[in-house]
Amino acid sequence: MSARAGVVYLVGAGPGDPGLMTARSLALIAAADTIYYDRLIPPGALGGAREDAELVYVGKQPGVPSVPQEEIGTRMIESAQAGRSVVRLKGGDPFVFGRGGEEGEALRAAGVEFEVVPGITAGVAATAYAGIPVTHRDDASAVAFVTGHEDPEKPETALDWEALAAFPGTLVFYMGVKRLEENADALIAAGRDPEQPAAAIERGTSERQRTVTANLRTIHEAVALAAVKAPALIVIGPVVERREELAWIERRPLHGKRVIVTRARAQASGLARTLRELGAEVVELPAIRIEPRIDTAEVREAAAAIGLYELVCLTSPNGVKLLFEAIAAAGLDARALAGVTVAAIGPGTARALAKHGVLADVVPERFVAEGLIEALADIDVEGARVLVARAAEARDVLPEHFKEEGAEVDVIALYETVREQPDEAAIEAAQGADYVTFTSSSTVTNLIEALGERFPADARIVSIGPVTTETAVAAGLQVDVEAIRHDIDGLLAALLADAAK
Ligand code: SAH
Repeated sequence: MSARAGVVYLVGAGPGDPGLMTARSLALIAAADTIYYDRLIPPGALGGAREDAELVYVGKQPGVPSVPQEEIGTRMIESAQAGRSVVRLKGGDPFVFGRGGEEGEALRAAGVEFEVVPGITAGVAATAYAGIPVTHRDDASAVAFVTGHEDPEKPETALDWEALAAFPGTLVFYMGVKRLEENADALIAAGRDPEQPAAAIERGTSERQRTVTANLRTIHEAVALAAVKAPALIVIGPVVERREELAWIERRPLHGKRVIVTRARAQASGLARTLRELGAEVVELPAIRIEPRIDTAEVREAAAAIGLYELVCLTSPNGVKLLFEAIAAAGLDARALAGVTVAAIGPGTARALAKHGVLADVVPERFVAEGLIEALADIDVEGARVLVARAAEARDVLPEHFKEEGAEVDVIALYETVREQPDEAAIEAAQGADYVTFTSSSTVTNLIEALGERFPADARIVSIGPVTTETAVAAGLQVDVEAIRHDIDGLLAALLADAAK
C-alpha cells in the first residue's frame, strides 16, 4: 500500500505493545514521506519507516518545553500542502483523548484531506492485559472512558460526578493518577460505593506493566505506596475482582525478567520476539552489525564458479543470504548448485538454504565447526575443490581441516561483523538485566567493549555453546548457563529452564 501525497493520516499506534499495532498503521508508516510522532508510541514503531522519511518528534513530556498543539497542526498542513504524504502517529487511538479530533478540524479548515486509522485504546488494552474485562455479563453492562484531567495544558471542564457515581458500569479514568485522591473523593461524595474494587494499571501492555488493586476509598494510598506513575489507568468497578481469576501476563514464563540480546541487528529480532512472547523485557544491544562484503573479487569469482566445487560449506544464515546474492549477481541461481554437496553448520543455516530451494546434504549434530568436520567424516575430500563461505573474522578450523585432508580449499569472507555503539537508553536499561545472552564469540567481545565498566555484574550469563563460553570465560565472565543444543532454540530452552528454577 502506498500513502497518498498531500494526505494526512491520523494514525493510532496502540497502547505500547508493538504487536498491537494495526496492519494499516504499519503499512502507512512504511510508506509515509513525513511522520509526526508522540511520546507514547510503542518501541520500534518507526522501525519500518523509509530510510529517507522525515521523522519529527512532537511529543509532550512533563517539564520539558514541547511543540505547541497549534504548531503541530500548522506543520502538518504545510507538509501536506507541499505534496508530502504525512502520518501523524499517536499512542492508543487518535480519537480517544488523543486530540485527533482537533487536528482533523484544523486539517479540514485548511482544506487538507485526511484519513483516520483507529488504534487500540489503552482503556481496553491495558485492562485486558491486566486480566480485567471492562464489561462482564454479571458485573458490568456498560463502560465509561473518563478523563482524570492530569494534562496540565488542558482547561478544566468539570466532570458531572453525580452522573459518574450513578453510572451503571465500569469507570476507566485516563490521565487519572495525579488527581486520583480528589477524583475518588468526589465519586464517593456523589454516592459511589467506597468499597467498590479499583485498580491502577501502569504502562499497560508493555513488559513493565504493573497493576495495583485496592478499593475506591484506598486506591490512592495503594498507588502512592507503589509509586505508580503515568501513563496509568484507573479502573473502578466490580470487574476489577475478575483479575484474581483472569490475570495472565504475570503467568508467562519470563514475566518480570530483563534479558539482553546481543545479536546483530537483523538477527536480533527473532530471538527478541520470542523472548517478548514469553513475557521478558528485552534490551536489544545491537552490538554487532553485518557488513556485506560480496563485492570483492574473491567472492565474485567463487560465486561465478560455484558449480565447480564439490563441497560448499556454509556457516551462518547470513552467509547463505549473501552467497545467494553473490550467485544472483553472477547471473546464476540455485541450479548452479545442482551437482554440489552442500553442508550447513546448523539447522538455522539449513533453514536459510531451504528458503532458496536447497536442502543441505550435511547438517551436523553439534553446531560448531568441529561438529561439521565429524559429520563430513564419510566424505572423501582429497583432491576435491572445497569452498568455505563465511564471516571475515571466523575461526580457521574448517579450512585447515580440509587442507590437511588434501582438499583444494577456497575461503571467502561474505561479510564482516562490525561493532556498533548502543544508545544510552539501552545501556541504562542493561544495568538491571537478569540475563545476558551470548550467541557467538563476537557478541561477547563486542558487548564487553560496548558496556565496559557498566557490564551488568549481577546478570546471569547464557551462552549458546562451548566456543562462546570459552571466549566469555577468557574475558573474565562467569557463564551460568550453556545451551545443550547450540542454536537459538537451544539457547532459549536453557534460559527458560534456568528461569524456572
Ligand atoms: N489516545 C490514547 C490516550 C492518550 S491520553 C489512547 O487511546 O490510549 C494519555 C493517557 O492514556 C495516560 O495518562 C494514561 O491514562 C492512558 N494510557 C496511555 N497508554 C497507556 C498505557 N500503556 N497503560 C496505561 N495507561 C495508558
